[in-house]
Amino acid sequence: MTRTIFTRIIDGEIPGDFVYQDDDLVAIRDIQPAAPVHILVIPRKPLPSLQELDAEDLELAGRLLLAVKRIAAAEGLGNGYRVVINTGEDGGQTVPHLHLHILGGQKLTERMV
Ligand code: AMP
Repeated sequence: MTRTIFTRIIDGEIPGDFVYQDDDLVAIRDIQPAAPVHILVIPRKPLPSLQELDAEDLELAGRLLLAVKRIAAAEGLGNGYRVVINTGEDGGQTVPHLHLHILGGQKLTERMV
């Protein structure tokens, strides 16, 4: 499997602006923020996209969502936020390593990423 830029950030080869990390996942600030708060929640496991998430990843999927909730709270997004998972070519995914965008800090009215 090709190592993506996210794997290289997770492995410390490329700098990332980490806001959270644990054994299963990391969260970094997006390098091109589309909103005042724009964070990527990325599993350490290099699943190419949501489509490759499998039954064996059920617990990981839950951990990713709970991390989103905790990070959103820590970032002060109590008034709401958006979670986006671009998937595959038609979904506009550019980095083939599953990631969840957290977007917030303003009223979101249209597609951001
Ligand atoms: P997607 O289009 O859903 O695959 O999102 C990929 C995201 O990764 C985009 O929002 C990029 O701005 C972001 N990105 C690409 N390279 C980096 C990087 N080195 N550090 C942080 N975010 C990045």
